[in-house]
This record gives sequence, C-alpha cells and structure tokens, in this order.
Amino acid sequence: MAWDFETEPEFQEKLDWMEDFVREKVEPLGLLDIHPYDVKNPRRNALVRPLQDEVKAQGLWACHLGPELGGQGYGQVKLGLMNEIIGGASFAPIVFGCQAPDTGNAEIIAHFGTPEQKERYLEPLLANEIVSAFSMTEPQGGSDPTGFVTRAEQDGNHWKINGEKWFSTNGKWADFLIVMAVTDPDAPRHERMSMFIVPVDTPGVEIVRNVGVYGQQEGSESYIRYTDVRVPADHLLGERGGAFAISQTRLGGGRVHHAMRTVGNCRRLLDLMSRRAVSRTTRTGTIADYQAVQMQIADSYIELEQFRLFVLKTAWMIDKHRDYRKVRKDIAAIKALMPKVYHDIAARCIHIHGSLGVSNEMPFAGNLVAAMVMGIADGPTEVHKVTVAKQHLRGYRDVADPVFPDYSLPNRRAAARALFDPVDELAEAAEATA
Ligand SMILES: Cc1cc2nc3c(=O)[nH]c(=O)nc-3n(C[C@H](O)[C@H](O)[C@H](O)COP(=O)(O)OP(=O)(O)OC[C@H]3O[C@@H](n4cnc5c(N)ncnc54)[C@H](O)[C@@H]3O)c2cc1C
Repeated sequence: MAWDFETEPEFQEKLDWMEDFVREKVEPLGLLDIHPYDVKNPRRNALVRPLQDEVKAQGLWACHLGPELGGQGYGQVKLGLMNEIIGGASFAPIVFGCQAPDTGNAEIIAHFGTPEQKERYLEPLLANEIVSAFSMTEPQGGSDPTGFVTRAEQDGNHWKINGEKWFSTNGKWADFLIVMAVTDPDAPRHERMSMFIVPVDTPGVEIVRNVGVYGQQEGSESYIRYTDVRVPADHLLGERGGAFAISQTRLGGGRVHHAMRTVGNCRRLLDLMSRRAVSRTTRTGTIADYQAVQMQIADSYIELEQFRLFVLKTAWMIDKHRDYRKVRKDIAAIKALMPKVYHDIAARCIHIHGSLGVSNEMPFAGNLVAAMVMGIADGPTEVHKVTVAKQHLRGYRDVADPVFPDYSLPNRRAAARALFDPVDELAEAAEATA
C-alpha cells in the first residue's frame, strides 16, 4: 500500500533546519533596502553569499536540479516541502538557488542548449553569479502567444531581432534574456517561433522602463524594445520553430513551483491570523472565541490543506511520469486554484487584523496583489481552466441517447430487470416445483 503522507525522518531534519535558518537569517534580509537579484551590488553579495554557502554545506542548494547540474535530484515532492518554507521569505529562493525565472531558464538551457551555451550562460547562472530574464509576453497581449509579432530574421551568420516585450521580470538585473520571436511566419501556428539567448548589453536592447507591480517600491517588470538586435546564429536556443515546445517545458515546472511557494505564503498568513485571533480581545474574550472568526480560521485551514495536498499530489505525479505533458491537467488545475486560495486567505488575514491589516505597517495588501498576480502571470486563470476542462473531457464519449441517457432511472431499472428477471423466473420455477 503506497499512500503515505509522512516525511522520512532524515529529510524532516533538513526541513526543520530550513525553518529555523529561513526565519532567523533569511527573512530579515527582505526588510533591508537591497534586492535579491542585484548580483552586482557588493553589499547584497556580502550578505547573501555566506548564507548560500550554508545552504550548500547542508546539501540543499539548487534542489530543483539533478546532480549532473549541481543539485540533489530530490524530485518535486521534496522540492514542494522545501518550497513551502522558501515561499514565505523574499530572499529565500535566491539563498537556496531556486529563484524564478532563473530556474526555468536554466531548465531549458540544460535541456536544449549547446555545450557552448551551457558553459557561457548556464554555469554562471547556476552559481548565481548572474541572473536572467524570460522575454515572451508582448504589450498587445500575453495570453495568446500565437499573436506575438516580435520578429527574428536571418542576417548572414546572425539573427536580427525587432519587436517589443512586456513584463520581462528582472530584465534590469539580467545578464541575458531568453527571447521568443517569430522566425517562420508561414509555418503552422505552433512552429512559427524560436528561442534566442540575447546578452542584455547587445546593441539595440533598450529597457524602455521598469514597471512595478502595485505596492512595490521599485519596478523590475521590464518593458523592453529590441531594435535590430544582432545575435550570432549559435544563440538560437533549441531547434528553429521549437519555441512553443520549449516554453511548455519551462512554464510547466514554473507553475508548480509558484504553487508550492504559495502554499508557504498561505501557511504563514494562517499562522499570523491565528496569532492575532487568540491575542486580540473584544467584549467578553478574544476574537477567537467568536464563531464568525472561528469560521474564517476553519475555512482558511480547510482550503489550505486541500490546496496543499493537490499540489503535493501533482508533484508526486511529475516525479512518477517525469514528463510535464502527462500531468498537464493537474498543473493547470493547481495554477487555476492558487490565486483563489491565496486571495481568500490573505483577505481573511487582513480582516482579522482590522485597521492594522489594511495599513502599510502590515504586508497583507501585498499578499492580495500577489494573489492577483498568480491569476495572471504564466497565463490567466481562464486559459488554465479551459485546459483542465479539455483534458478532463478527453476521457468522455457521447452517450447513445442524448435525450434520455442510459443512466436515467427508468433506463437503469429496465436494464436491472433485464439482468435479474431470468434469475427471478428460475427462482419462481424452483418454488413451484418444491
Ligand atoms: C508579475 C508578473 C510577472 C510576469 N513575468 C513575465 C516574464 O518574466 N516574462 C514574460 O514573458 N511574461 C511575464 N508576465 C506576463 C504574463 O505571462 C502575462 O501577463 C499573461 O500571459 C497575460 O497576458 P496579458 O497580461 O497581456 O493579459 P491579456 O492577454 O490581455 O489578458 C487579459 C485578460 O483577458 C482575459 N482572457 C485572455 N485570454 C483569454 C481566454 N483565452 N479565455 C478567457 N479569458 C481570456 C483574462 O481575464 C485575462 O486576465 C508576467 C506577468 C506578471 C503579472
């Protein structure tokens, strides 16, 4: 029997170490005026590098990767448990070497890159000597990649890229960008685009501005214009026309990791609202004594546990199949569920904290915006629900009679009679001869 919800003791010890380490040493970094991705800032490096070394010494560095790339090859379930801890602190992903979007970018260079690309871009990326950005979404619309117009044309032994990209997270810190551009406009819809590695200092790469998600002090969602950007032919990543397939490899993993970290965020919110509920007094006792507050705590616990189990089950399926395409339905489902669970728990946490909850002395309004982000980034919820429905419906065939289906009670009764009448007749005959 293989349904086991326990964590093995050796790994639990590592998780316990992580809990203490993140709370005591990593969380406080998020309160300083440094950015986790600013790898060229000596102060940031002086603070972050020793913590990264501690993580490496514990054998917990870059656990999303296999040993061939310097990771542990722990698989997605263990990574899920780790990400629950990492998700609660803004610096934790970088300290543990598993920060988006570098994780996804590293994954596709590892899968599809040439040995030269791996040496020049992947190795320093994995060591967090540099960071990267993924430049796919365009200003005129991101939900439908078949509408992208950024063009890459062959120009001697170079590619020349022209177009605009919107919300390339961390473009301003990045050393290189992975850009998706149309190379073959007349090919079938899903074979028109290719991926390119573009060093950010290539002439023609212009960061028009860095947009901030509401509430952030400093924007790092880059609006980037590419004007006659020439990259050598060997900067094509993967096969020509292969960008769709490559991006699915990247986005599948990214969505699951977002969900794992969101479990961590929700867990923290539930913890804080519970601490407030048992401490804050009103009328005859603490607010936790009132059923209306108990309902909010209970709903948050129930929704979080459901979501967490769904995320871990999806992680388990990825480990089992080792192919994101086989787990598409559940990856899309947790992507669609994540913003709702996160939003509802954040809203309750705010409400239970009253005026303090909505103030700028608490981070909760930021959690609400982050929940909204989870419903947009990597594709809006609607698109993922369509995927869930289509994948689910694949297993169904139309019933013979669409008016009175075979499962209507009259039809089922008739079928039952047809099955058992001969038996009844035999029994009656036996009774008559007895
Ligand atoms: C914080 C953040 C970080 C991001 N980071 C990156 C990044 O690093 N790189 C990158 O390339 N992109 C990034 N994105 C962009 C993200 O992938 C897009 O925002 C997303 O794909 C949606 O595209 P859009 O914003 O253009 O919305 P639109 O495509 O304009 O969609 C707007 C709304 O229209 C509706 N809609 C759209 N299509 C459908 C449909 N088929 N069915 C029903 N309703 C639909 C939905 O309600 C949707 O929310 C990021 C976004 C955010 C918010």
